[in-house]
Amino acid sequence: MNDVRVRFAPSPTGFFHIGSARTALFNWLYAKHRKGKFILRIEDTDDERDRKEFLDVLIHGLHWLGLHWDEGPGVGGEYGPYFQSQRSDIYRKYIEILRSEGLTYERDGALYFRVSHRPQVIHDLIRGDVSREEEKDFVIVRSNGKPVFHLVNVVDDISMRITHIIRGEDHLSNTSKHIELFNAFGVKPPLFAHIPLILKSQGSGKMSKRDTGALIEDYEKNHFIADAVRNYLCLLGWSPKEDREILPLDEIIRLFDICDVNRNNARFDEKKMSFINSEYLRALPLDDFCGRALAVLKSGHLAIEEFDAHYVRDVLALCQEKLRSFAELPNFIEYFFTESFPYDREALAKLQSKFDVQTRLHKFKLAFESLDVVDETSVENLIRQLATDHGVNTGEYIHSVRLAVSGRTVGPGLFGLLRVLGKQVVLKRLNAFSKKN
Ligand code: GLU
Repeated sequence: MNDVRVRFAPSPTGFFHIGSARTALFNWLYAKHRKGKFILRIEDTDDERDRKEFLDVLIHGLHWLGLHWDEGPGVGGEYGPYFQSQRSDIYRKYIEILRSEGLTYERDGALYFRVSHRPQVIHDLIRGDVSREEEKDFVIVRSNGKPVFHLVNVVDDISMRITHIIRGEDHLSNTSKHIELFNAFGVKPPLFAHIPLILKSQGSGKMSKRDTGALIEDYEKNHFIADAVRNYLCLLGWSPKEDREILPLDEIIRLFDICDVNRNNARFDEKKMSFINSEYLRALPLDDFCGRALAVLKSGHLAIEEFDAHYVRDVLALCQEKLRSFAELPNFIEYFFTESFPYDREALAKLQSKFDVQTRLHKFKLAFESLDVVDETSVENLIRQLATDHGVNTGEYIHSVRLAVSGRTVGPGLFGLLRVLGKQVVLKRLNAFSKKN
């Protein structure tokens, strides 16, 4: 079998959509799986709709997802992608071939291709055999002299020796035209794999660019982990046989085969995306986690630069396990960096309806003041002792203290929280709380 050569061929006419990213990813994975080549070809032949901004976002998004291409024009080890706008000479030569073989004719200034009227069977690796016949001659060069999409797409697939065309299902309707052209050039068509659509999370429609989660750039803006987003995208239409969801990339590469892509439409699931992201977040090595967290906090409202670096790292290490996304980080750790954090009044009222919060806090403060060392073990022992002594549940102490020192009912484990805040701050907050309430 020839070496596998696949291409991702986006038109830069809109922002980088999740469906497009998945097409790129499936091409890339298949190339890696087969130890072949992944080529990026920018189909920038629509002067009216192509925009540099879209191209930049696309290239950035591919890099962000780690989908680097393996060849292209250029020297010095830096290949650019191929741009159709720079390949007119090639197209002209191929058009001449068709013309010289009598397979074209002119009408109203445009150049038409004569179809063969032979029935075709498209052997699609995902959809199985699809029967088609291209009935009408079609334009290959417009009256303004510009070759059309079908022509340049096929010429490039021929000249780039593409072996597998993996693209969105919306192109299935173009495939019979493309096969006509491959045949006319005397080239055996590559294998085709048309990937089903991505449906929006609810309803039956296709995911549109306005739906939440549709644009790749938003994931980066919202501090998602690129590896997690890529992992999730793999699951939109493909799954490993054992139905696992979190897989390291090298394993996905080993398992991925384009024939295993599901022929039914995939449905976008925001919750699953967030879940996978949170799993990746928790699994990050601490240094990596801290590096990313600091980058997120830099643009936020917390004055973390006024705090000792060890303290900041302690806070982050403590919170990593409970944090679900970097987007919620600034709010999640706010009370470690300011004394003016809000109290959850509703939660307080709820606790007070069940037991006497102030009495618990008072007893806790007296005992806590006399602790020599504040760490997880000493605080835990102290709370257990207090609960036993006063014949109440440890929860009464834990909830009351958490609310008094952090203003809320959720967060990292309380014992670690008190260790990181430190004795002075905890006492200060207990006092402040009893004065205010
Ligand atoms: N330029 C086409 C698109 O963006 C892709 C065509 C193809 O993959 O063959 O939809």
